[in-house]
Amino acid sequence: MLTCKDFLREISDYLDDTCDPTLRNDLQSHIKECPNCWVVFDTTKKTVNVYKGTEPQAVPETVQKRILAAIEKRQEAKKQAATGPPK
Ligand SMILES: [Zn+2]
Repeated sequence: MLTCKDFLREISDYLDDTCDPTLRNDLQSHIKECPNCWVVFDTTKKTVNVYKGTEPQAVPETVQKRILAAIEKRQEAKKQAATGPPK
């Protein structure tokens, strides 16, 4: 099972259609189960389409970092909720 970090690392290959079919399947099933990454995928796809033809395709690094930070923050909050409030 892919993690969100794996997904973000592979998303540009996925959109470029350069990743192998197995990975592609894994990414597809991750999107189905993870609303977070689905939004990332959808947004990135639209961004890529906008730039298609004018510039080389790439996921903007700033976008990737911002999303990753948001995911990590959410996971951190989940962790804290599971272990209870800090003493
Ligand atoms: Zn995810």
